[in-house]
Amino acid sequence: MRQVWATRPPQLLIDGQWQMAAAGNTLEVDDPSDGSRIATIAAGDGQDIDLAVAAARRAFRDGPWPRLPASRRAALLFALADAIEREQHELALLESLDAGHTLDSILAVDLSIGLRSLRDHAGWATKLAGETPMQPVDAAGMDYFLREPIGVAGIITPWNAPLLMVLQKLATALAAGCTAVIKPAELAPLSALRLGELCAEVGIPAGVVNIVTGTGEAAGQALAGHPDVDIVSFTGSTAVGKRIMAASANSNLKRLVLELGGKSPVLVFADADLDRAAQAIVEEICFKSGQYCAAGSRVFVQRSVHDALLQRMRAMMERLSIGPGHLPGSDMGPMISQRQRDRAQAIIDHSVAAGATVLRGGHARAGAGCFYEPTLITDAHADMRVSREEIFAPALVVTPFDDDASPQQVAALANDSHYGLSAKLWSRDLRTVHQLIRLLQSGQVVVNGGGGEAILPFGGVKQSGFGRENGRVGLSAFTEIKAVRLGY
Ligand code: NAP
Ligand code: MG
Repeated sequence: MRQVWATRPPQLLIDGQWQMAAAGNTLEVDDPSDGSRIATIAAGDGQDIDLAVAAARRAFRDGPWPRLPASRRAALLFALADAIEREQHELALLESLDAGHTLDSILAVDLSIGLRSLRDHAGWATKLAGETPMQPVDAAGMDYFLREPIGVAGIITPWNAPLLMVLQKLATALAAGCTAVIKPAELAPLSALRLGELCAEVGIPAGVVNIVTGTGEAAGQALAGHPDVDIVSFTGSTAVGKRIMAASANSNLKRLVLELGGKSPVLVFADADLDRAAQAIVEEICFKSGQYCAAGSRVFVQRSVHDALLQRMRAMMERLSIGPGHLPGSDMGPMISQRQRDRAQAIIDHSVAAGATVLRGGHARAGAGCFYEPTLITDAHADMRVSREEIFAPALVVTPFDDDASPQQVAALANDSHYGLSAKLWSRDLRTVHQLIRLLQSGQVVVNGGGGEAILPFGGVKQSGFGRENGRVGLSAFTEIKAVRLGY
């Protein structure tokens, strides 16, 4: 695997051709577990984005893609899912080397959900439709509306779940009949490049999927501000989301779906199953080393079980084995980069200086690689940086609430954030659960660890962004509605 990528030429995928960046620039891609070089990739810029958008536009306007029956588009997406599944172990290893996550977690979460999403959306391709309202039999015409693909989709993704993010967005765009230009994260772009090859192998026509690697400043900004892109689906930080919105406003008012950051609350009540709650909370914050947008990171726990929960979470953290994600036995891999680790450390140090207590962890692990100790923080006030900012490291802030607090008071603690991506609730009392589901300002509420199999709409409220991904709701963002008033 390393050999293949070390010698692979640094190329972009434009109009079915692998080619160097127009300006000839490149970027290095490292393994975050030891800093070793894995690959050199092309550093595309505005010129490459122009070429890729032109190719996507031609494929949308003149190519075979818009002329295919929806059932044929669906068949190609199913074929892509089969190809990915056949190669899932190689893809997981590539993603693990590139992004640091454990092989098990990539297979069980990213690939498993990604494949389900691809097949789910393939199924939707034949079910997208307009509507014809009931009208009198002798009406002087007919009114209805059509649903049409919106056109060229820009897809800009982060490094924390590189393959899953690209897969979900691409599945939706292609199922809706759009063509796409993908700008993967510069820190973990390799699985997207392999995906580009698989798209060609299964017969998705040239120009339908274009991939321009490069920096956000050069390639991402050019895509977000391109006058001939119809929608940008972006997952990343709130700060960059705001720049993408400005780029849309300053270019062609392209539609946006923005999946941004989170600072998700976890509410634990005394009647909860504390063992399960502790395990789920620690697993989630250590999944991807805390670099998971929807991870519960602010834990509010009823005072009578505060110590019992802390003790359980601490014991779980002690048992975790930290090591390179691609080695068997690692429960948690490294963070993506030194820079991200330093950023997390600065937030924690700032809050400790202001009076927060580090109960466990609170520092990097000595030695090579970007590893960080699982961390428990207490005594944090709501206005401290650890309580307000995304730390994006395996760090939990734990705060007690009074045993007699009302649901409104508990919800106010949870809602005290600019973010609103996800909220977790642990209680067996139906009344408490139902009241809080309504009171929480969040795109998602997960009760007792969640359960079902369905792929639900995903997205945030407040500064966690807007729009939803997945399913009928997610697909509608990639379609345009045309109302027809037809007189006889
Ligand atoms: P980021 O810095 O916002 O970057 C995301 C993507 O945007 C990358 O491809 C980046 O390129 C690109 N980009 C950077 N500046 C840009 C610009 N001016 N114009 C256009 N594109 C630009 O986020 P990140 O650090 O990669 O990821 C972590 C963040 O993503 C966290 O805040 C996390 O919560 C959020 N996230 C949210 C979700 C969700 O579904 N809500 C899921 C995962 C992650 P580079 O690669 O060059 O930086
Ligand atoms: Mg990397």
